[in-house]
Amino acid sequence: MTSTKPASCDIAIIGAGQAALQTIASLKSGGFDGAITLLGGEAFLPYQRPPLSKKFLNGTFERDRLFLKPDNYYTDNNVDVRLNTYVTHLDPDDLSLTCADGTFLSFSKAVICTGSRPRQLPVPGHDLENIFDLRTIADIEAMQPEFRARAKMVVVGGGYIGLETAASARQLGVDVTIVETAGRVLERVTKPELSDYFHALHTTNNVEILTDAQVTGFIGDTSVSGVALPNGDTLTADLVVLGIGIIPNTELADAGGLTVDNGVLVDAVGRTSHPDIYAAGDCTNHPNALLDRRLRLESVPNAIEQGKAVASDILGQPAPYTAIPWFWSDQYDVKLQIAGLSDTADRHVLRGNYADNAFAIFHFDGTQLVCVEAVNRPAEFMAARQLIKEAAGGRIYDPDMLGDETIKPKSWLS
Ligand SMILES: Cc1cc2nc3c(=O)[nH]c(=O)nc-3n(C[C@H](O)[C@H](O)[C@H](O)COP(=O)(O)OP(=O)(O)OC[C@H]3O[C@@H](n4cnc5c(N)ncnc54)[C@H](O)[C@@H]3O)c2cc1C
Repeated sequence: MTSTKPASCDIAIIGAGQAALQTIASLKSGGFDGAITLLGGEAFLPYQRPPLSKKFLNGTFERDRLFLKPDNYYTDNNVDVRLNTYVTHLDPDDLSLTCADGTFLSFSKAVICTGSRPRQLPVPGHDLENIFDLRTIADIEAMQPEFRARAKMVVVGGGYIGLETAASARQLGVDVTIVETAGRVLERVTKPELSDYFHALHTTNNVEILTDAQVTGFIGDTSVSGVALPNGDTLTADLVVLGIGIIPNTELADAGGLTVDNGVLVDAVGRTSHPDIYAAGDCTNHPNALLDRRLRLESVPNAIEQGKAVASDILGQPAPYTAIPWFWSDQYDVKLQIAGLSDTADRHVLRGNYADNAFAIFHFDGTQLVCVEAVNRPAEFMAARQLIKEAAGGRIYDPDMLGDETIKPKSWLS
């Protein structure tokens, strides 16, 4: 049968996730009326991933609520949506692309929004049943039937995804063991104080956490029944969830000759090394003028801000992306909100108490405030983004003032 889909468009958006949807929404609200084609490898319209490891996994958030826009948004806005359509080749010289089903599309501009994929664990038994990644709706729907009370789950990786999965599983009565190769949970993204807090939060909720522990293999006939550790011990497992990090999907850009270095290299408005090809979201590496360095971020706010920046440039009103990075995580009844990055910090001050499950940690790099980690402290988080921005501009904050509970966060901004 001959396809009736057009073979050319003004803007081809590759990948149908958070960054893609934001690019489209910003183009449309900016008055763009050209032909947009959205090509997504998954079976679904763009959806939000954060609930996947949180309320969608524990069954308190329905699937319909995941979608970023209703179906009719795309038809109403004349967006040609092609789902289950995986782009296999991008030709920057010819301004064209090819899909796995053989479809060819030429474009005036393309936006690469291919996101990232879960890192795999190539140990013996890795292909047994009931070993799951956690990235997509399909992943969750495959693992959900196994989330039964008293089922034994091993989570490999004590990062945010692993910890959130553990919390959701505990809320359903699943027995959980986390196996983390580093010396502490969240080691890649936080300082020891917050790692200690989350370690204690999970052990209080009866999660067993093994640190400095590696998985050497999975045991089972067709389905996983155990997880092997280097000391010869085996953890019983009815299911395993892998949360060992992600890899940015840069292959299309790389094969097309675009510059890739820990992500598709883009400028502050999302332009790649080719003038007509942009990129946004998890797959990119972008400059942050406020922090004076390049970053590859894995967060919704980053995908949104980059999508806006790309659209602004296409619309001829370039608005560079310069936001302070921020992130959140929900585990049990704890909401963590983080503004800034703590990797360069060398000292901190605590506001509140860990034991109250309500505190904020202010991290400094020398005298510069660089990051605030707020647990159940929305007022501190709200102020933090502005404080860090001003600190990047040279303002010095007194750590004692930030730690003093008698001084309200609102007054920091005046
Ligand atoms: C379980 C989970 C929980 C999270 N929780 C949080 C959170 O609490 N807070 C937060 O800030 N962030 C969170 N994140 C991260 C956040 O969801 C991502 O940073 C965000 O989705 C990135 O958006 P994106 O558009 O770059 O990529 P995605 O949303 O991943 O979209 C990329 C899409 O492109 C498709 N694709 C890839 N290659 C191709 C191709 N060649 N052709 C066609 N399609 C292709 C993919 O299949 C995918 O659908 C979470 C992520 C996960 C998985």
